[in-house]
Amino acid sequence: MPTENINLPDMSRLSASGIDFIDESYFESLLSKDKKPDSGRIDEIISKSKSKVPLTIEETAVLLATEEPEIIERIFETARLLKRDIYGNRIVIFAPLYVGNYCMNDCVYCGFRRSNKESIRRTLTAKELREQVTNLLRMGHKRTIAVFGEHINYGPVFIANCVNEIYSVKNGLDSIRRVNINAAPLSHEGYRIVKSVGIGTYQVFQETYHHSTYARMHPAGTRKSNFAWRLDAPARAIESGCDDVGLGALMGLANWKFEILSLVAHANHLMKNYGVGPHTISFPRIRPASGVTLKEIIQNDVSDSNFLRLIAILRLSVPYTGLIVTAREPAEIRKTALGFGVSQIDAGGHIEIGGYVNNEEEGTKDIQVQALEKEQFELGDVRQLDEVILQLLKDGYIPSFCTACYRLGRTGKVFMEYAIPGFIQNMCTPNALMTLKEYLVDHASQETRFLGEKMLQDELNKIPDSPQKSEIAKRIDRINNSTDRDLYF
Ligand code: SAM
Ligand code: SF4
Repeated sequence: MPTENINLPDMSRLSASGIDFIDESYFESLLSKDKKPDSGRIDEIISKSKSKVPLTIEETAVLLATEEPEIIERIFETARLLKRDIYGNRIVIFAPLYVGNYCMNDCVYCGFRRSNKESIRRTLTAKELREQVTNLLRMGHKRTIAVFGEHINYGPVFIANCVNEIYSVKNGLDSIRRVNINAAPLSHEGYRIVKSVGIGTYQVFQETYHHSTYARMHPAGTRKSNFAWRLDAPARAIESGCDDVGLGALMGLANWKFEILSLVAHANHLMKNYGVGPHTISFPRIRPASGVTLKEIIQNDVSDSNFLRLIAILRLSVPYTGLIVTAREPAEIRKTALGFGVSQIDAGGHIEIGGYVNNEEEGTKDIQVQALEKEQFELGDVRQLDEVILQLLKDGYIPSFCTACYRLGRTGKVFMEYAIPGFIQNMCTPNALMTLKEYLVDHASQETRFLGEKMLQDELNKIPDSPQKSEIAKRIDRINNSTDRDLYF
């Protein structure tokens, strides 16, 4: 029997649940009715989401289809409530780490696509990768997502070696504590390999769930043109032990309502077949990119108000799934999005290969100069990490670098079971406070430290007197007065 090429696996070997569950005509029919849903039905759906039960696609479609301003306002209100209730005021912070931009695909929206001759191609050497990680650690980051193009050189063994390399870097007391990856679909064997080195989330975006749009965006003959292989990737990952998966759709390609309904269908498909939904969902809007003519690609522009609306609807439909808005979006939109759904953001990120520089050596401020020919796309929010942290504190959020769940095995189904009332108060908030304390002591500017200390005190005051409260206070003191770090529940 011929052995499988692990870097270019046989794309016909799908998961046990490998069917195309995107029933376009049914989804479209759901979205075309109920523009004015009756108030009883809306009450039912809103009260189901308030009890934190994931919505069906039929229920989600009602929320998506409606254009009634009053109902839309109720959706926003419910999303705000759920966000507070499930996630508290913590916002998880991470940084992207682009490892290589060689790519065999030709996705028409992406600066890394193979036909883009303007793109400057590079893969970090092991030494360069370690330098990048050192610079991330100097900034204060603890979690990163390593990003790869799809290329024969970026097979699972290469990815696993990169992940090992990232975990191995120490900078004083710091190291990266959770490495997520965003990489092309792998085979079962490939997922087992990347899982064996302890990846956090495996993230892969379907880009668009709309079949003919997918075909237009991913030219025939490229590996990515295989819709079914990509759609099935999260299921194969889960079957192979990568039980924290991240889904996503690139907004602007097809109708946004259709994409959100499909994302919910994908989440429900995983839940039904594996008892676990996605760990995160992303919904990036297309950005300008090198050699990309946006006008030809964006057929379904998503306005700011619809972007916020889609976040609120997702919050109601998949209450326990983390929602990510990256620095593709401008700071103002990110700030608003945090209020009713988004629980994770990147900050101070660079998306060119080798983009993190050592500011201490250079003696310069980390000002982002964007060079499109080196990047996948243009960013909308180029603030430094400390500026983002400061703004979060000003807005009443606890920036969190917590990675405890993944390290204590609270992933996949187990994580879902933990995501219940009381868990946030007992685990997430204390862990967020302790990681914030580390940031304040080790990395923060004076102003951030001042506001951060105040936030820590205010949050501690909110916790009722208990043995746990004394333990949290003790640990925060230890971080302040010793080299003890990484103290989590
Ligand atoms: N090559 C891998 C893949 O395609 O799955 C890695 C992904 S790519 C480096 C990460 C994601 O960036 C893509 O899945 C796509 O959704 C997004 N992306 C590509 N071009 C973009 C653009 N012009 N604006 C915003 N996001 C973009
Ligand atoms: Fe390659 Fe991914 Fe860009 Fe497509 S989105 S061209 S697969 S890097």
